Amino acid sequence: MKAHDGMYIDGAWRPAVGTETIAVVNPADEQVIGRVPAGTAEDVDAAVRAARAAFPGWKATPPAERAAVLSALHEELGRRTEEIAETVTAELGAPPRFALAVHASMPVLVAGSYAELAASHPFEETIGNSTVLLEPVGVVGAITPWNYPLHQVVAKVAPALAAGCTVVLKPAEDTPLTARLFAEAVDAAGVPAGVFNLVTGLGTVAGQALAAHEDVDLVSFTGSTAVGRRIGATAGGAVKRVALELGGKSANVILPSADLAKAVTVGVANVMANSGQTCSAWTRMLVHKDRYEEAVELATAAAATYVPGERVGPLVNARQRERVRGYIEQGIAEGARLVAGGPEAPLATGYYVSPTVLADVTPEMTVAQEEIFGPVVSILKYEDTDDALAIANGTVYGLAGAVWAGDDAEAVAFARRMDTGQVDINGGRFNIRAPFGGYKQSGVGRELGPHGLGEYLQTKSLQF
Ligand code: NAP
Ligand code: MG
Repeated sequence: MKAHDGMYIDGAWRPAVGTETIAVVNPADEQVIGRVPAGTAEDVDAAVRAARAAFPGWKATPPAERAAVLSALHEELGRRTEEIAETVTAELGAPPRFALAVHASMPVLVAGSYAELAASHPFEETIGNSTVLLEPVGVVGAITPWNYPLHQVVAKVAPALAAGCTVVLKPAEDTPLTARLFAEAVDAAGVPAGVFNLVTGLGTVAGQALAAHEDVDLVSFTGSTAVGRRIGATAGGAVKRVALELGGKSANVILPSADLAKAVTVGVANVMANSGQTCSAWTRMLVHKDRYEEAVELATAAAATYVPGERVGPLVNARQRERVRGYIEQGIAEGARLVAGGPEAPLATGYYVSPTVLADVTPEMTVAQEEIFGPVVSILKYEDTDDALAIANGTVYGLAGAVWAGDDAEAVAFARRMDTGQVDINGGRFNIRAPFGGYKQSGVGRELGPHGLGEYLQTKSLQF
């Protein structure tokens, strides 16, 4: 077991003010694999002061130089992909192949995209007799969840640094080791002292102190709706910028003309990836009544190929496992038909949940409305296209979704009517430069690509 001392503040690993630590647990075997300091409000304050002191210098650094630093960070992360993948497997439980292909490799690509954007983004525009300067917002407080431990960090820190902001990061208590690796990469890349700072700790202590700190100009949060709502209210009260990414209940709409087998198989895979712990997962499968039973059979067969402990990992912790099991039980109690999986533990050790398919789910059921965050697919039946649209749009969320049809044009016509931030057309691939974020209660603001960079900029108009 590794003990990790200190937090990365002002360009160095320094001891935490307090002596409390957080145990990091491997959810596959329930063993403690490390400890990190539990930061307090004092640690957060030291980090914010370092970020504030570093801000004028980083803001004044020409974009091309910021791009060079981000390029070095991209390389340092790339050099560490194996170690990152192993760390994500150890603290999140992600199967090694998925950890390498997604958890380690995708953030490297995102860091690379911001190295390019820092160099090419127009930080100035002309509107009539005005020159509009796009300037960094200031000190960013970034609070990230555990489900994509490095991606969520890079999706906030890289655009913030590209924009000229400085950052204090409070990562999830369940996955701080990956965040420490990120800080090591930042240090090795030669990012100037204070530009990036890491404070590990509990959300209710360090997270709250960061979100409420008066010298933080923008809070960027990804996580639960409950915490996001509170952070949004605090930021609103202080009149500071806030970006919130709060999850979803995305619809996978399979229109009658679609290739049903493909749409169902890809749809189930989308939910099972990362054990269902993906905010944009297509957790509601919508199928026309005439093809419904066929779809249920296909989904049942697809779910059986996700063997816990092999293709699908555990949930992050015991609390999440109990939460997900509770939702499965509630679904059955409210009248859903269990066709695969169920609430029983599939393995004696580890926080595993069986890949589960619930059929005959109706729109008002809890499992059709709330984010479960586990390997659970709900299959709903629709009568016609308007009914499908009403069901698809019938939750408080609007983060992602999918539409499948015989041709792209038909799918696009449906997608235009969906209240959601992203829609994959006939299995379109994830794009690390496309704006990612929610309509409705899925959040405020966008991440990734040039739109993600824009979140960290504010405008100043000069009139001539
Ligand atoms: P969470 O509590 O919202 O955690 C997200 C981050 O916020 C973590 O770093 C957390 O620290 C921190 N935090 C917690 N309370 C805080 C507070 N009062 N002030 C400031 N920061 C605070 O989410 P969770 O408990 O890990 O997961 C619960 C549910 O949230 C999941 O079942 C899922 O539905 C949803 N979720 C959504 C996403 C997403 O990508 N949108 C990601 C994760 C979870 P700690 O780690 O110490 O709690
Ligand atoms: Mg929490």
